[in-house]
Amino acid sequence: MRMRPIYDPVCLEHETGAHPECARRLAGAGFDEERVAPAEDSLELVHTGGHVDRVREACARGGMLDADTVVSTGSWEAAVRAVGATLQAAEEGGFAITRPPGHHAAADRSAGFCLFNNVAIAARRLANAGKKVLIFDFDGHLGDGTSAIFEEEDQVLYWSIHQHPAYPGGGGETEIGRGRGEGFTVNVPLPPGSGDDLFLQGVRHTLPVARAFAPDVVAVSAGFDAHRADPLLDLNVTTHAFHRVGRLLAGEFENVFATLEGGYEPAALQRSIRAFLDGFNGGAGEALEKATDSSFKLHDEFDMRLCHLEECLAPHWRL
Ligand SMILES: [Zn+2]
Repeated sequence: MRMRPIYDPVCLEHETGAHPECARRLAGAGFDEERVAPAEDSLELVHTGGHVDRVREACARGGMLDADTVVSTGSWEAAVRAVGATLQAAEEGGFAITRPPGHHAAADRSAGFCLFNNVAIAARRLANAGKKVLIFDFDGHLGDGTSAIFEEEDQVLYWSIHQHPAYPGGGGETEIGRGRGEGFTVNVPLPPGSGDDLFLQGVRHTLPVARAFAPDVVAVSAGFDAHRADPLLDLNVTTHAFHRVGRLLAGEFENVFATLEGGYEPAALQRSIRAFLDGFNGGAGEALEKATDSSFKLHDEFDMRLCHLEECLAPHWRL
């Protein structure tokens, strides 16, 4: 099924001033505009009432919600429609091109530019309806909020590829979930400097877990800050890898939707979103960047990490 971008320009009204997570990321990107429904009623599927109230009050007065996260009077409407766009994406198999992002937000706190955890709310709604949900998070950061929300559950598998070490800390290969959720968290930690080759190797190497989990739905936390032009991370990934990841997901899974996470160099972000959509929708990827290769040293380091990951997951899955 074709993945359609869902874009409500209300997301530009979340004003953050001189901040990497700014409206310039999506302004002028040229996606068709529509009005999506706000999803205030769904926030407490994942978040505490206290958190929802704190965010509402902070947006009303503007300023800092936490050390990294800025809000303004337009932020509340943008945030509840970012959740709404993600819920709509889940229903339609679409891609919510939205902001603020969500994957660092935990049940009771905002963090890392994220107010509400868009993907977790959509995944929770699906899980409550009896679906098995795979969350595939290829943002260059660990989605620590999402990971924490589902770490003790076996109906939602959290699979993340990200730079390690990096913000927000954690996300090593030994972290595989807890209690009933043991084995249902898969972290693929890329060494800083990794290029398209290692990024794609990491995805392909752990794909057997995703297949064996046999999800009813795949929820993609689609962040593009692994791109080599991104100012916040040290990865060397290009639109080539995002195109391939889109193609791979479309080929492997029946029901897939996506929501935007990071990506802080506006031109690279917009190119990357289109490359992912083109790959998913069967496009040939004519205008992609040349694939990047990683050094032998990085290959060695990553091979060791993947071996270790395999050992950690061995009681649960065979890679
Ligand atoms: Zn990120």
